[in-house]
Amino acid sequence: MTNATLLILGATGDLTKRLLLPGVGSLIAGGEQPDLDLLKGLTLLGSARSETAADDWRGVVRTAFEGVDASGDLAESIIGKAAYVKADPTEPDDWKALLDAADGDELVVYFALPPAVISKVADVLKDVDLPERTVLAVEKPFGSDAESAARLNEVLRAVVPEERIHRVDHFLGHRATLGMLALRFDNRLFDPVWNADDVERVEIVYDEQLGLEGRAGYYDTAGALKDMLQSHLLQVLSVVATEAPATVDPVDLRDATAAALRATRVWEHGPVFPNTDAPSRRARYTEGDVGDRHLPSYVDEEGVDASRNTETLAEIALEVRTARWAGVPFVLRSGKAIGSPRDEIRLTVRPVRHRPGGQSGEGEQEQIVIGFKPPRLGLRLTAGGGSMPFGLEPENVDGELPRSAVTEYGEVIRGVLGNDPTLSVRGDVAEQCWRIVQPILDAWAKDEVPLDEYAAGSAGPEGWQRH
Ligand code: NDP
Repeated sequence: MTNATLLILGATGDLTKRLLLPGVGSLIAGGEQPDLDLLKGLTLLGSARSETAADDWRGVVRTAFEGVDASGDLAESIIGKAAYVKADPTEPDDWKALLDAADGDELVVYFALPPAVISKVADVLKDVDLPERTVLAVEKPFGSDAESAARLNEVLRAVVPEERIHRVDHFLGHRATLGMLALRFDNRLFDPVWNADDVERVEIVYDEQLGLEGRAGYYDTAGALKDMLQSHLLQVLSVVATEAPATVDPVDLRDATAAALRATRVWEHGPVFPNTDAPSRRARYTEGDVGDRHLPSYVDEEGVDASRNTETLAEIALEVRTARWAGVPFVLRSGKAIGSPRDEIRLTVRPVRHRPGGQSGEGEQEQIVIGFKPPRLGLRLTAGGGSMPFGLEPENVDGELPRSAVTEYGEVIRGVLGNDPTLSVRGDVAEQCWRIVQPILDAWAKDEVPLDEYAAGSAGPEGWQRH
């Protein structure tokens, strides 16, 4: 796509400033020639309901670019052309000004808007005369259950065809996620053990030190399960669990990962977590110190309604019912305000069938660990060691995986500007992801699972053993 306009609805928001614009910048700084060609002639058209001077918007773009070392003629020409239009995208009449300000022959409409606003705008767009070559990029969470996701799909498909809809999940552009495909399918070492015969348990964990950070308006109605597990971590699961696709083109790769998700159900084979038979647990942080920051209790944060019982830590167990994976729990976990947070995919390998007698020392169950930040590969092994000739010692072998100067949102922008949906969530998959977590949402709504507490800065509630 050349001479495109990237119309960002929600241009004054956190996502635009912190992730989206730096993503564009990272493509300038670290992209290849085809990426630079995509960006040539790009108009960054920001819009929100608040008044923002064009110069201020250009300043926001410049700051974002500087943060990722994007400079040079291309960066300057994009900053120079950047424009801002004050508009309410839920008002049909405001679309005239937005479309008048768009330049070039392609239009990408990026919905960086609160989830509740996204469907309203989509409804309005059905009756707006958009350029023929229009692409829609929609942020997560996509709907709030399977039904609303299906409705949103229907509305968006009434605006443009499915192949021009990008449901964004930047975890699909994560080096750890993409790197897993190479690790599994471009080496002989890993895929032969990547199955239920050899793997006892899979964990996909994304804990973070950050607390609410002023985002109650969105987060308090979402919580960790909807914010992280239902979207990002299920997408990662689909890549961990997939069969080898014939190619990594958008049809083959997305067919393969969608098949893994279609086979995924809530775990039904008895206890996975200590002290409970339930396949899920949830908790909320109380006051505490995370590193050198003091966080108030979640319920005392501005804008939080304690009666919503919003969890800030969620853990669920799933099963991928395929010949490769049946009987192996996939545990997904994400929490806020966690001290020493983990962010990784961890496969625990079954114990060896036989250890030679006469060895001394302790072995360890093998684990394959793929870390997110920075992307890394770790192997937990039993090694020979110690002062005895046949001694055993647990050994960690760790290494960083290649990084990319293109951020995850750079990958997103590359996909939407190039209209390549390989790393976008397909419509049916967005609905499947709600289907998978619905039994857990229902059990929580009925209070069948207690809402535990943990101090900010701790590893989680007492009695929740870390694996
Ligand atoms: P913010 O609340 O920071 O920003 C929302 C933006 O939308 C603002 O520009 C706001 O500007 C505009 N807006 C708010 N209400 C309306 C409305 N009723 N009609 C039209 N415009 C409105 O949200 P974020 O930037 O954090 O999130 C945006 C989207 O990105 C959400 O869907 C979120 O889930 C997703 N996301 C966010 C991430 C993040 O880290 N921030 C990460 C991943 C996804 P104004 O009020 O002036 O119109």
